[in-house]
Amino acid sequence: MKTLNLTENDGAFLEEFKKLSGDNPSLCYQCGNCTAGCPYSNYFDYPVSMIMRLLQTGQKETILNSRAIWLCATCETCTTRCPCNIDVAHIMDMLRIMARKENKTAEKDVKRFYDSFLSSMKMFGRIYEIGIVLMYKLKSRHLFGDMDVAPQMFLRRKIGLFPTIKGGRKVAAIYKKYQKQEKQKAKNNG
Ligand code: SF4
Ligand code: SF4
Repeated sequence: MKTLNLTENDGAFLEEFKKLSGDNPSLCYQCGNCTAGCPYSNYFDYPVSMIMRLLQTGQKETILNSRAIWLCATCETCTTRCPCNIDVAHIMDMLRIMARKENKTAEKDVKRFYDSFLSSMKMFGRIYEIGIVLMYKLKSRHLFGDMDVAPQMFLRRKIGLFPTIKGGRKVAAIYKKYQKQEKQKAKNNG
């Protein structure tokens, strides 16, 4: 775990974050409840309460380059435990989105998994497990990792050979519409 080093102070980053997310990290008074309950704290470079402090003090580069925002599992324990009713899990989500927009991905495999998940949703209208695994393995080149669990998953019917979903086209249309809106937004802002 890294120590806190408040070197930069990009006040505009906090304001931009508030505007984009609708969350107010300034309410955090550093009680540490979120970190105490977070099941991933041991793997984070900065615990979640420290991410909140970095955000309050405008440490944009440190946050967007952190591993913590990618390793967060969105379990929402932090949100549930926060005495100030801050939606901490949503804040972690938003930071991940902002990092992604700036091409900052401290955990590339996590991003590859998200991309595979989204591609599956776009193509099939829901999760097609084998498709996700194949896409992820090709992107990450971890071709033979976790192969031993596949037979068990087949036997227990946790994964099927073929996608069994209807309505994929409708979901693809939603994606297309969203991407068009985002492009338009970027054009208007830039
Ligand atoms: S949502 Fe993320 S930061 Fe919050 S407790 Fe879960 S893993 Fe930790
Ligand atoms: S639980 Fe809430 S107030 Fe306490 S440190 Fe976490 S975000 Fe801040």
